[in-house]
Amino acid sequence: MALRLLPDTLVNRIAAGEVVERPASVVKELVENSLDAGATRIDIRLDDGGATFLSVTDDGRGLGRDDLALAVRRHATSKLPDDDLVRIATLGFRGEALPSIGAVARLTLASRAADSGEGWEIDIEGGRVDGPRPAAQPPGTRATVRDLFFATPARLKFLKTPQTERGHAAEVVRRLAMAAPGVGFSLTEGERDILRYPPAGGDLFDARARRLAAVLGRDFADNAVPVAAEREGVRLDGLAGLPTLNRPNAALQFLFVNDRPVRDRLLLGAVRGAYRDVLAGDRHPMLALFLEVPPEAVDVNVHPAKTEVRFRDSGLVRGLIVGALRQALAAAGHRTSSHVSRAALGAARPAIEGGAEPVGRPPAGAPGTPSPPGLSDRARAFQAPLRPLDAPPSAPPAAAAPPESDDAYPLGVARAQVHETYIVAQTATGLVIVDQHAAHERLVQERLRADLENGGVARQGLLLPEVVELDPAAAERVAARAGDLARLGLAVEPFGPGAVLVREVPALLGDTDVKGLIRDLADDLAELDSAISLEDRLGAVCATLACHGSVRAGRRLNEAEMNALLRQMEATPRAGQCSHGRPTYVELRLSDIERLFGRR
Ligand code: ADP
Ligand code: MG
Repeated sequence: MALRLLPDTLVNRIAAGEVVERPASVVKELVENSLDAGATRIDIRLDDGGATFLSVTDDGRGLGRDDLALAVRRHATSKLPDDDLVRIATLGFRGEALPSIGAVARLTLASRAADSGEGWEIDIEGGRVDGPRPAAQPPGTRATVRDLFFATPARLKFLKTPQTERGHAAEVVRRLAMAAPGVGFSLTEGERDILRYPPAGGDLFDARARRLAAVLGRDFADNAVPVAAEREGVRLDGLAGLPTLNRPNAALQFLFVNDRPVRDRLLLGAVRGAYRDVLAGDRHPMLALFLEVPPEAVDVNVHPAKTEVRFRDSGLVRGLIVGALRQALAAAGHRTSSHVSRAALGAARPAIEGGAEPVGRPPAGAPGTPSPPGLSDRARAFQAPLRPLDAPPSAPPAAAAPPESDDAYPLGVARAQVHETYIVAQTATGLVIVDQHAAHERLVQERLRADLENGGVARQGLLLPEVVELDPAAAERVAARAGDLARLGLAVEPFGPGAVLVREVPALLGDTDVKGLIRDLADDLAELDSAISLEDRLGAVCATLACHGSVRAGRRLNEAEMNALLRQMEATPRAGQCSHGRPTYVELRLSDIERLFGRR
């Protein structure tokens, strides 16, 4: 076989294999180009999810005739003026996107430089360039891509339904819109508006908050806490969802490095570490975090799609994220997310409706569904969003309580215990229902953590040391961590090949099922890989210990015990959710209860 240099068209097609996977990747490359060109408005149109037609129009600085011809050539870029791959300040820099797209589709690039009176356009179809020729074009650039993958039919077969492709494209636009709040975005398919974000003005912090609310929804905005930290020139900002606002996967975690959306294992791992002791392992928080790193301290040239990054000092970045998130969540105190009470209220629809009406029926008054106003309307009304629990009260509570009264307690005064599981407390503005097990678990965990930080956890010797049988690998794992566990008040030692001997347990746990505890710990240790710092490991172990040491549902509490629990919750950071991310309490406001009964 003869050795030869590949023709450009083939090289570009090969490059396209890495950069252009589906319509969404074309959208990403083109929108990034518009952002790099300083656009303030970017409009994206799709047909068939982008497979047959997509266009991106911007009002950026545009290109003149000669630059237009150059832009579609391989490795042509205006973005590395000093040949410096170390300090990259733009989203693009590889000079690959336009030729790659032109190699596998029919690309038309029309542009007019901001300072020029004339527009030009150029075509590339399956790698063949035609133009530039004069064109009527307002200042800015419009890239039009037709018949994606017509030149590479094998790829064409992998395209999914238009809905799926449209979904991926919308996802790309959402991410970039979060990164550039000052830019207006629209995504339309045919006549249909899919996304529309007006430019958000004001300072970056406000603009970002508004854009995040527009993209991620009010629910997120209402149930997230601000995160801000800086260390050694690395800045972290953003919003972190309360643990109770959790999801089954990490899809709603948005991470940006120097305004570039990334999906990076290190960053995702840091988020997991930070929420480890407030969320179960299979639940994931929602958040949007923006990391600003000096360009020379991060390498974005890891993969052609540029979604992975390498940090010069990954320990610093990880520590910053974990620390800032923990602090933000601790500051949120006993707050739990408003959507929890909303969900509870949704379930508390008046029994008289009794399933006669399917959920999601057309609103009363829709043709053909005569129904008396009243209960059903009210039922719907009280599913409207509640205010978040500790939002600054817009109006003082109706009966302004004297400060020395019990009403001054945010979690109120215990009135009753029901089903030996829930504490019902009266507050100044309504009532609170506490899950006693979840709440106590939280308190024990925070105590353990505090004791740990203050030098050690009080232990209590077992009258009879307990032998716990495990499979040999698990026994070895537990024995290997004996040092860490000792700091937590748990004295274990190896006991033959498939067992450990437990001599002491943390005094806080009281009478506990030692065998169950050790088995759970062995599972924990198996899940936690060695990349996780000792501190995080201990946090997870604290959570397991706390779960074993807390008041079980089903234990009767007297009034003093209940009130003590409420006061402790108020004084404890992160008391709003148990270590599995479930809320420890929900609040119903008097006004919501009144609405429930049609008094409002
Ligand atoms: P890269 O973005 O990596 O430089 P591209 O192939 O995406 O490579 O684009 C090549 C060049 O074309 C860019 O460097 C830029 O100068 C120019 N360009 C592309 N899109 C636009 C646009 N929307 N507005 C202005 N210039 C653009
Ligand atoms: Mg580019």
